[in-house]
Amino acid sequence: MRAMIWVKSAQFEGWACSECDWIFNPSGPPVGDSLDEMTREFERQRDKDFASHLCARHPRTEGVKPRAGSSKDKPRIPRRSEDQT
Ligand SMILES: [Zn+2]
Repeated sequence: MRAMIWVKSAQFEGWACSECDWIFNPSGPPVGDSLDEMTREFERQRDKDFASHLCARHPRTEGVKPRAGSSKDKPRIPRRSEDQT
């Protein structure tokens, strides 16, 4: 079961999903007449966003193997030139 988790890293600090790459992005500055109201509004929006997001739409990028790129420049086998005159 997915859960909302608090993550903290060099790049990001905030709420994220435990099962996918979803993170909470507030759509704007907090609204409300008081800090209490802003906090409530923030949490409401956060919970709504979390509840409505689809994990499948936020696939994790880490751990995904890069496409097989093993075909590096193959050494060209020089053709024996037969067109010598
Ligand atoms: Zn998710």
